[in-house]
Amino acid sequence: MFTMKRIPFNFKAIAWLLKHPVAGNPRCAFSLWIKNSVPDRRYQILRNMASIASGNQKPHQKRSKPSKETLRHVKNREHRKHVDLHGPSNVYVQVVGAGSRENGPSIYVFSEYNRYLFNCGEGTQRLMQEHKLKAARLDNVFLTRMNWANVGGLCGMILTLKDTGVPECVLSGPPQLEKFVKAIRVFSGPLEDIKLAVRPYTDPQYSDDTMTVTQVAIFAQLKGDQLRRSPSPGRSNPDCSPSHSPRRELWMPENMDGGPGSAGQERAESPGGHPKPTRDPSLVIAFVCKLHPKKGNFLVLRAKELGLPVGTAAIGPIIAALKDGKSITFEGREIQPEEVCTPADPGPVFIVVECPSEEFVQPLCSNEVLSRYQSGGTEDSAALVIHMVPESVLETDGYKSWMERFPASTEHLILNEQVHTVHNIRSHKIQTQLNLIHPEIFPELKNCTTKVRQATLHVPNVRAECLLKYQLRPKLEWQRDAIPSCDASEFIKEASELPEFLKEVEECKRFQVTDSMALSGTVEKYPEVVFLGTGSALPMKIRNVSATLLNISPTQSLLLDCGEGTFGQLCRHYGDDVDEVLSKLSTVFISHMHADHHTGLLNLLVQRERALSTLGKPFTPIYLVAPLQMMSWLNQYHDHCQEILSHVNIIPARSLVEGAEVQKFKTKAFIQALLKKSDLEKFQTCAVRHCKNAFACSITHQSGWKLVFSGDTMPCEALVNMGKNATLLIHEATLEDGLEEEAVEKRHSTTSQAIGIGMKMNAEFMVLNHFSQRYAKIPLFNADFSDRVGIAFDHMRIRLGDFRVLPKLMSPLKALFAAEIGEMEERRERRELKQLKEAGLETLPNGEHGGGAKGLAVSKRDMEDDPEEASRKRVKTN
Ligand SMILES: [Zn+2]
Ligand SMILES: [Zn+2]
Repeated sequence: MFTMKRIPFNFKAIAWLLKHPVAGNPRCAFSLWIKNSVPDRRYQILRNMASIASGNQKPHQKRSKPSKETLRHVKNREHRKHVDLHGPSNVYVQVVGAGSRENGPSIYVFSEYNRYLFNCGEGTQRLMQEHKLKAARLDNVFLTRMNWANVGGLCGMILTLKDTGVPECVLSGPPQLEKFVKAIRVFSGPLEDIKLAVRPYTDPQYSDDTMTVTQVAIFAQLKGDQLRRSPSPGRSNPDCSPSHSPRRELWMPENMDGGPGSAGQERAESPGGHPKPTRDPSLVIAFVCKLHPKKGNFLVLRAKELGLPVGTAAIGPIIAALKDGKSITFEGREIQPEEVCTPADPGPVFIVVECPSEEFVQPLCSNEVLSRYQSGGTEDSAALVIHMVPESVLETDGYKSWMERFPASTEHLILNEQVHTVHNIRSHKIQTQLNLIHPEIFPELKNCTTKVRQATLHVPNVRAECLLKYQLRPKLEWQRDAIPSCDASEFIKEASELPEFLKEVEECKRFQVTDSMALSGTVEKYPEVVFLGTGSALPMKIRNVSATLLNISPTQSLLLDCGEGTFGQLCRHYGDDVDEVLSKLSTVFISHMHADHHTGLLNLLVQRERALSTLGKPFTPIYLVAPLQMMSWLNQYHDHCQEILSHVNIIPARSLVEGAEVQKFKTKAFIQALLKKSDLEKFQTCAVRHCKNAFACSITHQSGWKLVFSGDTMPCEALVNMGKNATLLIHEATLEDGLEEEAVEKRHSTTSQAIGIGMKMNAEFMVLNHFSQRYAKIPLFNADFSDRVGIAFDHMRIRLGDFRVLPKLMSPLKALFAAEIGEMEERRERRELKQLKEAGLETLPNGEHGGGAKGLAVSKRDMEDDPEEASRKRVKTN
């Protein structure tokens, strides 16, 4: 392995960043520590709110920023000075998502010069964060197809790359990627800080320090309905697709608010009022990647034996000539390169192919470019072929014989739904431990299994597992040491050894027993609330981004927000019952257009269609209650990427505000149908204080219960009015008490503010969620927590009857997360001291005077306070 020089951590730059948050961040945000963006260090990035730029507030003035050059670029440049310019020495291919339904196929490629990602489905970023694959170092993303399964995680990934200061990212693949990037701008805000280049397949060859990549376009012969809709693996019956025409009239320009990036603007730009759709589901791109050749190594001992002037200045040109493959004559003796050098490595080839359905088999198998890397071809045979191919296609004779045309030396890696490894280990770990506290409220996680039989192939092949590696250099070999294990008994043992934990669990259990006796089985099964994502800003290993499932009755469900990876969370919560759950879902509410609240919607829609088809149920669109800007994004995605509009009946969120006049007959009809379908008496929204077009909602059931969901907001009177006497309030509590200023700046609520709103509303019970990822495991508690307050965890499931138990869970939770709480409290104390000092108050809370040398010591410590130090500690406790 080559060594890298440490770059000193730039505290000055961090301090500057802290003072100058970048305006216009599209995610609900706050300072956040992204692991891995700097080797062995933590890198502070600031995620500021979009509201500052796009909302009612005046945008921050942009100031000149520190250099955007990434550490990798600096390091590479330094490193390259010392090495031979030919070919990388260390290259491997690594599975990120192995291709299961919840973790679609994606491949990470590492060399000391470059990092690549092949496909970026939803959840890719979360997996990379959990498994320490450095997203911030990516500069090339290759996409095999314009389908949500391949690009679903790209919006979030681009935002993260932008936030971490990566100056450029190149996307290769279908030409529609350009439209996709344009469509993202509907909700991403300006993307000027990152140069996003699209390299379409028509620009076939690309070369960098590591390899040459050739894009190979494969066109399928799709017919009729298939042309309109992209094939998706697992869709058993494409004929069940919805056939009614998309209801375009609802999101034409006159309906739009006309804000930046709105459909109104989009339409106005294109002559004729409508851009030409460019969607092409018949196209997939294969990638042929050839590593640059590497010269052989000079064998010093052997050279000495032959009498060459090793250790003198004369040896330089001799080595250069021999490594170049030339023979030399030394003291009258001819020396051949192979006598003193290991053989040169011409550079192995690996190929990435996706073959989503049978229609692609013939064009793929007869492709002339790919055949060059098979037996008898004009190029060196491929060392590795990565197949992103469902079993039904692998089973075809055509595909089988294509695989057989590669020589026996070629390795085959297959990624599809036949996956058995657990990817999201941390999710499983925390849930296993929470399950000890209350098995009903924190049910064990499940896995989705596939019923499809594994194809019988005639060539040896390897099935993908999360983090499985194939090394291409220095030696061709499979490496399995990174594959994570998920051992529940280990997780349980770890929790049991925590001081006080088991004692607190016992105590809590005693209450549960007596309480359930008191209730004598009267706990209603419905409504049931399942928290699927309770973190803010971006998906991270412990908390995913916003989504809450409300199961209204055995047959009806409703979803409140749908951040990236929501479908994956559903899979982990429900396992094989996920189709059943999706088939009951009739309504989705999207509170606002920040990426952490809606980028999981497309996958949900596509998977729901598949679920209905699998279960043999008729397709019906969902009622989508959302800001109208949502349609601008869906519209553009539909036109250029994948058919999606027929999945939704839009009900603009503003049309459900109390007193709003609804003009459109269709909207009225949709509202009535929504209420009827879910047995609701009322579905109301109100504008909240967050970004432009941000809404909260209130849902009143015919049986009398009322659930209120705040979305993202500062304390909001309109919400109090709408939510009066709610049975359950789900309110965001992004920040801890003491960070009120930051909360105002980012237009979020602190814990006490959220509880205050619940009190004012006279809510029977409230659950806090949308925690800053700073509080990944648990937020900080304060004195305002009463027996009417609970905190949400991903995969927590509650019913109205659980309100009495929830506050009792606090003690065991505190014992489970004692280390993290201690750390956060320490941080808070230091912050408070610093604030006191800044305010000119020299008296420390314990009555001592903090002036002089002591005061100085405090301030120096404060400089180091910070997540940098805390997260280093956190690593130890993790
Ligand atoms: Zn948010
Ligand atoms: Zn937000």
